[in-house]
Amino acid sequence: MRVIGAQKTGRRVDIAADQHCRIKIADDGLVAFRQSLVSPDRLRENGKHQSQRKRTNQSPERFEFLIHGFAFACFISLRNTEDRRTARPPIIIEFWDVGQGDATVIRPDRTRVFLIDVGPRNSPVVQWIAKNSNLKVEGIVLTHNDADHAGAISAFVEAAKFPIQRVYFLVDGNPKNERFAALFTHLDRAYKAGRVTQIIRLEAPQVVWVDPTGSVEICVRYPAVLTNVATQNPNQTAGVLTLNVSGKVRVIWTSDAPLEQVAAKCCGRNTEYMVGPHHGAPTDRRNPGAERWLADIGARTNVIFVGSKNGYDHPQKSCLRKAAAVGTRILCTQLTPLCDKTRSTDVVKAHARYALPQPNTGIACRGPIRVMLLLRMKSLVTSSTSSINKPFCRCSVRSVSDFNRGTVDY
Ligand SMILES: [Zn+2]
Ligand SMILES: [Zn+2]
Repeated sequence: MRVIGAQKTGRRVDIAADQHCRIKIADDGLVAFRQSLVSPDRLRENGKHQSQRKRTNQSPERFEFLIHGFAFACFISLRNTEDRRTARPPIIIEFWDVGQGDATVIRPDRTRVFLIDVGPRNSPVVQWIAKNSNLKVEGIVLTHNDADHAGAISAFVEAAKFPIQRVYFLVDGNPKNERFAALFTHLDRAYKAGRVTQIIRLEAPQVVWVDPTGSVEICVRYPAVLTNVATQNPNQTAGVLTLNVSGKVRVIWTSDAPLEQVAAKCCGRNTEYMVGPHHGAPTDRRNPGAERWLADIGARTNVIFVGSKNGYDHPQKSCLRKAAAVGTRILCTQLTPLCDKTRSTDVVKAHARYALPQPNTGIACRGPIRVMLLLRMKSLVTSSTSSINKPFCRCSVRSVSDFNRGTVDY
């Protein structure tokens, strides 16, 4: 990280930048950060003050901000103390904007990456991997074989200029099914050509990635083999994965799986981000238990991978309303006419800020979303740039409140 000093730019103050982007910190956080830069003692003192303020102020935005402030304070103090040997770079999680489809890139450090889904056939992950020959792909999980999740895998493997270590894929349904057969043939060919080192069946329970510290892991929670074999519909058996820190679930990738299964396998009160399910329209959304399941999962933020031009009416208003009712905030990658019929320009265009390629179609609602996990020993704080968290997607927030008032009609 490169400290560039305080500079007033409107409401925000820039204090530091990494190799990817500028990190902007709101004015009301400046005191804490400046203290941390000059004195670790003052920083610890300030941490106490922050936790006192946290106890007295429970508004979600305030809590979110304090978490981030403390996260950055820890990160900066780490660099200035003897703990340098145990410090490690933050794990960066990027929920990419690939149009109608899912793709997450997890970066444990500058060169290693792990992917959960790769998006549709024209996904921007393909051009990205073609241009970055210094990367080492430790693994790719395909949560199921629908084109919006796995469509780009063949092009991705072709475009990568190095062998991909592991590909996890789901045996969902009949192996004679055309889509399944095509995917399997591609992977088999890539394996025989040495472009993929290992192909592994995705199945719960399974650990697909572990951080060198051993405190962070990505696990498969669903489906187990019996559910997997018995299913008739790929979405019913789509893989559900969690990122756990010291055994606690912090991020859930639900793919297109039923909400009931997600709640059964991942309920808890530590979840910060839930991705999906099913592009904001879970298949069992009309079940009377849906709101309870959302409450059981208790995610603070729901990331929805959705394309502006999807033909499926995603995301569904009933789902946004239920998520909002249990206190979850919504972040969509793209804006759809269901959220705002009138807007035809990007709301927040984060692609350039993160130097990530953008998809060929769609209007960015948030575009790609980047989250950082800051680790010290076995503790973790989740952070992301303040511009992502305040305000959240204006259109989503407005839409949710409109939904709550019943004024959105479609
Ligand atoms: Zn699907
Ligand atoms: Zn899908």
